[in-house]
Amino acid sequence: MNVLVINAGSSSLKYQLLNVETHTLLAKGICERVGSDEAFHKHGLDENEVVIDAKMADHDEAMALVLESLTSGPTKAIDSLDEIDAVGHRIVQGGKYFPRSVVIDDDVVAKIDELAELAPLHNKAALMGIHACRKHMPGIPMVAVFDTSFFQTLSPRAYMYPLPYELYEKYGIRKYGAHGTSHRYISERAAAVLDEPLEDLKLITCHLGNGCSMSAIDHGIAVDTSMGLTPLDGLMMGTRCGAVDPAVVPFLMEHENLSTAEVNDLMNKKSGLLGISGISNDLRSVKDASEQGHERAQLAYDMYSYSVKKYIGQYIAVMGGVDAIVLTAGVGENCEKMRRMIFSGLQPLGIVLDEERNRLRGGERVISTDDSPVSILVVPTNEEYMIARDTFELVHQ
Ligand code: ADP
Repeated sequence: MNVLVINAGSSSLKYQLLNVETHTLLAKGICERVGSDEAFHKHGLDENEVVIDAKMADHDEAMALVLESLTSGPTKAIDSLDEIDAVGHRIVQGGKYFPRSVVIDDDVVAKIDELAELAPLHNKAALMGIHACRKHMPGIPMVAVFDTSFFQTLSPRAYMYPLPYELYEKYGIRKYGAHGTSHRYISERAAAVLDEPLEDLKLITCHLGNGCSMSAIDHGIAVDTSMGLTPLDGLMMGTRCGAVDPAVVPFLMEHENLSTAEVNDLMNKKSGLLGISGISNDLRSVKDASEQGHERAQLAYDMYSYSVKKYIGQYIAVMGGVDAIVLTAGVGENCEKMRRMIFSGLQPLGIVLDEERNRLRGGERVISTDDSPVSILVVPTNEEYMIARDTFELVHQ
C-alpha cells in the first residue's frame, strides 16, 4: 500500500511517498516559499534530487506540482495517481479532541479549524494541504496524525498550569506537547533495540533538533513532556527561548514597547542559540565559534546542554528512575560533543556514556557502556514512517 505523507507548513509543503508494507521510500520532496516569487520545488531521493524553480501561488498549486512530478517527467515515481492508496497529514495541534490518529471527514476538518486558535500558522497550513488533496485526489482516504496525540495520556497534574481554572475551561489553556509522533517512534524503536517490551521500560526521550523537546514515557505511557500549550515551552532551542520566567513577557512589552506579535516573534525567532550566541541558530556554527573562543557561543552551547540535563533529572524524579535515555534529531543524532556535555557528571545516577561508542556514527545504536545501569541510545527519528503506518492501519480497518 502506497501512502503519500503530507506535512504542510505556512509557506512550505513537504511530502514523502512510502510503501508501508515493504518499508520503501518511493519519492520525497519539498515545495518552499510557496506564495512568493522565489518559490521552488525540490524533488527526489538524495542523490537524484532536482531543484525546480516553479510558480506556486498557494498550497493548491504546490500540490498540483507535487502530483505532476510524482507521475511524470524525470522525477516520475509512479505511473498514475491510482497508485496512491491513501494520504496521511501531519497536524500540529489536535487539542483534547484527538488522542489518536483519525480518518479525515468534515467533522475532523471542522475541529482542526477550531483548534487553529492554539496553533494558528500550523493548523491553517495543514488545512490548506487537506483541501488541496481533496481537490486533486477526490475519493482517496485521508488520515490526520497529530503531534499532540501521544501526550493525551498526561494526567491533569502534569498538563494543568497553575492559572485560574476558568481560563482552562474557557480557552483550553494547558500543556498539549508537540513532536509526539517522533517521541512515539523513538520509544518503540528503543524498546526494539533493547529487545525488551516497551511496557516494561521507563524511558526519557529527547528530540534535539532546531526545535527541542523531551518526554518521560513510563511503561509505554507518556507521563510528561517539555513543550506546552505551544512548542515554545521547555528546552532552549535554535531560535526559541523555551521556559523563562513568565514575568519577562510583560516586562519586555513595557520596557521595549513591544506588541504581542513582536514579543511572540522575539521569543520564537530571535532567542535560543541564536539569541544568546548572536551568531546562528545552527548548533554547528555555534560549536565552531565556541571552539574559536567566542564567549557568547560558548555560553549558548553550555546553556543548551544544561537545559537538557535538568529535564533528565526532572523526569527521573517523575518516574522514580529510568531504564534508557533516547536521543534523536539533528543534534541528538549527530553531535557527539553535545551528548558528552549532556551526560557528563551523570555517572552517580547510573548513566555512563561510552566515549568510543559516542564517537561512532551510524543508525540506531547504544552509546552507553555495557555496565551502565541506564542505557543511552541514538535512534534516528522517522515521523513520516509513523504517519504512513497510522494511515495504513486506519484505512485498512
Ligand atoms: P529540524 O527541527 O529543523 O528538523 P534537525 O533535526 O534537522 O532540525 O536539526 C537541526 C540541528 O541539528 C541544527 O542545529 C544543526 O546544527 C544540528 N546538527 C546537524 N548535524 C550536526 C552535527 N554533525 N553536529 C552538530 N550539530 C548538528
